[in-house]
Amino acid sequence: MGKVIFIGAGPGAADLITVRGARALARADVVLFDALTDPALRELAPNARWVDVGKRGFADSTGQATINALLVRHAREVPLVVRLKGGDPSVFGRLEEELEALAHAGIAGEVIPGVTAALAAAADSRLPLTRRGGGRSVALTTAMTREGALRGGRGADTEVFYMAGRQLAALARRLRDAGWNDDTPASVVSRAGWPDALASMHCIATLGQASVLHSGRPTVVTVGAGAAALAAMSRADSESPLLETGQAQVETPSA
Ligand code: SAH
Repeated sequence: MGKVIFIGAGPGAADLITVRGARALARADVVLFDALTDPALRELAPNARWVDVGKRGFADSTGQATINALLVRHAREVPLVVRLKGGDPSVFGRLEEELEALAHAGIAGEVIPGVTAALAAAADSRLPLTRRGGGRSVALTTAMTREGALRGGRGADTEVFYMAGRQLAALARRLRDAGWNDDTPASVVSRAGWPDALASMHCIATLGQASVLHSGRPTVVTVGAGAAALAAMSRADSESPLLETGQAQVETPSA
């Protein structure tokens, strides 16, 4: 009987995986990977069998049951199965279902953390999620309910929304309903952690305008204290073009 290690691949470029994650990946016999993980990670385990479970068709509950069954089946056949997940496995990764499936089958599971998209977005936009004084709490929130409905929310000084990329105008309306003011800052970052990451700054009233720029790309929306511009940054930005420094391109659309 083998074991399963869940590894957070990080949000983008292969070098955002942790050293511990990379070492465990190198020992894998079979890797079950998600759509959002970087193909360059394959070089870390060239001899393993790579199984894509991130394709469409695995996203619903039947798909999840298939993934659970594949994990168990492979762990019975080889010493080490790696379940490679985008970002961090413990954040919107359906880890609980996969851990439970392993526990039912009496298979050992281990989790190696990764950089979640919210943190890579903060780094790319250079907007810290916490701020001394006004930004004392951060919430990671999915904008999608289990039934597929869009929901806003206000549970922390800084709220980072996952899975809202396609519906930014609707998210803005839900955020207003949840009690945020129209002029609350909102930062949108897509493909955070990749060389072609894009970051744009808005307020809730103008959030819908970000749709075109980030269309078709994995996106997180940061709202509240952690999306507020840093007063001293705009001058520094205009003096050093962001693309040259390998940082995300930052656009500030006029409201
Ligand atoms: N476990 C992942 C989240 C998976 S849910 C993590 O910890 O990051 C998928 C959602 O994550 C996407 O809809 C998007 O909102 C967000 N996401 C994933 N990768 C991203 C990236 N590189 N940039 C911005 N958002 C990303």
